[in-house]
Amino acid sequence: MELREHVALAPYTTLGVGGEARWFASVVSQADAVEAFTFARERGLPVFVLGGGSNVLVSDRGFAGLVIHVAICGLAERTLPNGRVLLEVGAGESWDGLVQHTVERDLAGMECLAGIPGTVGGTPIQNVGAYGQEVGETIAALHCIDLHTLQPVELPNAQCGFAYRTSLLNTAARGRYLVTRVDFALTPGGAPRLDYADLRRRFPQGAMPSLVEVAETVRAIRRSKGMVVDPAEPNSRSAGSFFRNPVLNQELLEHAAHAAGVPLEAVPHWPAGEDFKVPAAWLLEHAGFVRGYTLGNAGISARHTLALINRGGATAVDIVALRTRIVQTVQERFRVRLEQEPVCVGEIAAPAEEVAGELPQQGSA
Ligand SMILES: Cc1cc2nc3c(=O)[nH]c(=O)nc-3n(C[C@H](O)[C@H](O)[C@H](O)COP(=O)(O)OP(=O)(O)OC[C@H]3O[C@@H](n4cnc5c(N)ncnc54)[C@H](O)[C@@H]3O)c2cc1C
Repeated sequence: MELREHVALAPYTTLGVGGEARWFASVVSQADAVEAFTFARERGLPVFVLGGGSNVLVSDRGFAGLVIHVAICGLAERTLPNGRVLLEVGAGESWDGLVQHTVERDLAGMECLAGIPGTVGGTPIQNVGAYGQEVGETIAALHCIDLHTLQPVELPNAQCGFAYRTSLLNTAARGRYLVTRVDFALTPGGAPRLDYADLRRRFPQGAMPSLVEVAETVRAIRRSKGMVVDPAEPNSRSAGSFFRNPVLNQELLEHAAHAAGVPLEAVPHWPAGEDFKVPAAWLLEHAGFVRGYTLGNAGISARHTLALINRGGATAVDIVALRTRIVQTVQERFRVRLEQEPVCVGEIAAPAEEVAGELPQQGSA
């Protein structure tokens, strides 16, 4: 285990804001991770587990405990009796690198998730999804260290509680498990998933694109929206979509149409049980938060309404000020409380108006 003190966290994140970690350990094995957690436990330090830093907002005051940076690598492959291929992948591997490996091997199941930044171990936390696929569909099991007992545990898919942007690991067991390895079951020679309208439009009816072509097309669409991390693209200095798509009941849906001054049919929505999911981007745009909107050094991407960006020199307070303005305006106009996707690291100074406890926060002793 490599242990350092006073390490600036901003360079470890895609948003590029925030202060220092008091302690910072890079771990390359399960034994390393146990050693790091034991170090924190002996000193009573809170712990934050960091992957690729693409879904975090770090406090300007940094993190007063130990950040465990997961850099566990490795990939093994075997064929299952049912013909599917099982990939056992170290949590610190690059997610997009893994997607590219699978499409080149003609293994179907994650081709639509190309271009998402971060590590393999970060993907199950919020069950990443895009273009009609979610990672939970192909995860066979998570291998973790239980930070309560410091013992290795295996969580089969059925125990992971995967749903829209949700898993056991960001709800009931938030902060409890450090993922060391993820097992994926993929379909050799399987057809690509072409459910998503944006994607279908790119291929003529009846076309049979390869998995490689689909992954490349997804990356191209994402690039056009500034959703592939690229140092030359200022709109990609974000933490991805900042808000989840909310679920509205019939009454709130009708109110949204009324408040926006449009007929109900003009509000994009799709069924979610008895209720309806509405794109958070639609609510933002109809509350005046359009692409290119700025507030100090923070802003909304010029290419994607849901991506809050660091326009250069932004602090966490700048990002939070913009978030607060958006959340409050949307709530006043539509009576909808938007939920934040990125996880807060350290104490984020929330303006008094914000309801305490609503921010996804992590850090356990
Ligand atoms: C430009 C851009 C586009 C994006 N597009 C999408 C998208 O299309 N769909 C989508 O769902 N997300 C998207 N995201 C969000 C983000 O990339 C994903 O959530 C990603 O999986 C986070 O992985 P990470 O390794 O960067 O995790 P981090 O940001 O480091 O951490 C995020 C959370 O996961 C936890 N965590 C990370 N690694 C581990 C581990 N090994 N064990 C236990 N906990 C861990 C952290 O503690 C934290 O709670 C995007 C982000 C950006 C910047």
